[in-house]
Amino acid sequence: MTERAEREFQIQFEADHDPLTDLFNRRAGEKRLKKALRECAKHGQHLVLMMIDLDKFKPINDTYGHEAGDKVLIEIANRFKKRFNNNTDICIRLGGDEFIVAQQINNYDKSSTQNQAIALLDELQQDISISQTKKCAVGASIGIAVAPNDGNELLELMFNADKMLYHVKETGRGNVAFYDELKNKMLLSILNN
Ligand code: GH3
Ligand code: MG
Repeated sequence: MTERAEREFQIQFEADHDPLTDLFNRRAGEKRLKKALRECAKHGQHLVLMMIDLDKFKPINDTYGHEAGDKVLIEIANRFKKRFNNNTDICIRLGGDEFIVAQQINNYDKSSTQNQAIALLDELQQDISISQTKKCAVGASIGIAVAPNDGNELLELMFNADKMLYHVKETGRGNVAFYDELKNKMLLSILNN
């Protein structure tokens, strides 16, 4: 790469990524997600969107300091990077302790997505070193919406995944919930009334 091309790459990288974790920032991430949705519609694929928020992250800042909190966010992002494919999957830091991971899937199978989300939760909960002597751990909650079933438009898909994330937060945290289950419950209650 020439020096100029390298500089331009660096400028573009900084515009598209969160400076703390190097994950996509919200703006660039949403652009990627919209592109992924268009590709999914074209190729008959599903887009699995996981909305993830760390559980009780604020107490880590309060107990160990903001810098330790930053280390936790960096380690969490590294675990996303290791687990997901940088070329095909989309990992975003929406802001604060909230993230999106999205995958284009050829043959969507809910149970394998569920297993993947549970394995991710399990990995995120593992100890994180915040200094040579100190370790801490943080949990996470995940809400999942899948296109086209739970929405064709990005806003609708994010809204539905977010709804499930807050359902998990309200019902004890540290779990995974799919939007289709809520949709089925709503349908059942309409049928029963
Ligand atoms: P909940 O279980 O309900 O998700 O609560 P929480 O404690 O995780 O707090 P919440 O998600 O409501 O808020 C996230 C907190 O993360 C708020 C803020 O203090 C902290 N935070 C946001 N951005 C940063 C950052 O860049 N670095 C650090 N260290 N802390 C941050
Ligand atoms: Mg949180």
